[in-house]
Amino acid sequence: MGELSITGWMMTAAQKPLEKRALPAKPPAAGEALVEVAGCGLCHTDISFLLLGVKTRAELPLVLGHEVSGHVRAVGDGVAGELVGKPVVVPAVLPCGTCDACRAGLRTICKRQIMPGNDRHGGFATHLTVPAKYLCPVPASALATHELWQLSVVADAVSTPFMAVRRAGVAKGDVAVVIGAGGIGIHCVQIAAASGARVIAVDVDAAKLEQAKSFGAAAVVSAAGVSEKDLRGAVTSEVKKLGGPSFAWKIFETSGTRPGQATAFSLVNHGAYMAVVGFTMDKLELRVSNLMAFDATMRGNWGCDPELYPEILDWVGAGRLQVSPLVERHRLDEINEVIEAAHHGKLKARAVLVP
Ligand SMILES: [Zn+2]
Ligand SMILES: [Zn+2]
Repeated sequence: MGELSITGWMMTAAQKPLEKRALPAKPPAAGEALVEVAGCGLCHTDISFLLLGVKTRAELPLVLGHEVSGHVRAVGDGVAGELVGKPVVVPAVLPCGTCDACRAGLRTICKRQIMPGNDRHGGFATHLTVPAKYLCPVPASALATHELWQLSVVADAVSTPFMAVRRAGVAKGDVAVVIGAGGIGIHCVQIAAASGARVIAVDVDAAKLEQAKSFGAAAVVSAAGVSEKDLRGAVTSEVKKLGGPSFAWKIFETSGTRPGQATAFSLVNHGAYMAVVGFTMDKLELRVSNLMAFDATMRGNWGCDPELYPEILDWVGAGRLQVSPLVERHRLDEINEVIEAAHHGKLKARAVLVP
């Protein structure tokens, strides 16, 4: 470890550009692993920390970034040595695996969970240190069709909607309505379609709707300038055309916007399941009793259970999910420019920062 030098781009204060700094290079502690970063995806959450007033759990200065793939370079006591040298995806939320919640199978609500770039230094760096228990080795099938940096987005942009779709119990013949076909929503579209659902994508952006069609959406509905009532009518008419049921829709709110959430809730029908996947600080007035009257369910998910990651990477390896057309590579040294561009909606794909 003697010559190892670690460089990270740190958030020092809200609204300030990230600063490139040298970090102490320590051997990993017991149960931990040092990962050399191949790529770290830029998430809306990073932008929320830096520019939108959301607080990180660890104090500043902090290296952001929680969507990481890379190679394990060293492990601490109690971690299998075979992990060294392996390509891995680092789940965005790493539970402890031993507390009461974890032992009850409720790993996503583990109170001792570690989220890189929130609880400790994250992936906008040459290396990061993380708990080793849930690192997910990347199968050869996925590496045959993808470069390792591209698979970084599996850590959040792919896995979080995967968890939502799995929890919603999406099955063949279901109607799935995905609100927002952006960085998270486009994956939700393809995961729901690959699960056998008739998927209807809703967005205000015509280009995103066009893209959703090529990722498995059976129909698309533009929300641009459309009233809530008309939008509901348009979705209902598409469902009819597809021969889908008029009840028990699976609705996925992935836009993380107040209008998106209002739209999603307005689509809740008898037996519906509404998944809250996107995040916003904005508030919305709702008639919550609709859930009672319609015998409907609304549920959120905080990240993804790491036990689902091997299956997700198998889907990628088998070509059931596409990742490479939805990412673009940027140099880590250009991170401040990339954040600006992403914040102003100027990027066509999810940015992955490569050291
Ligand atoms: Zn994220
Ligand atoms: Zn735990």
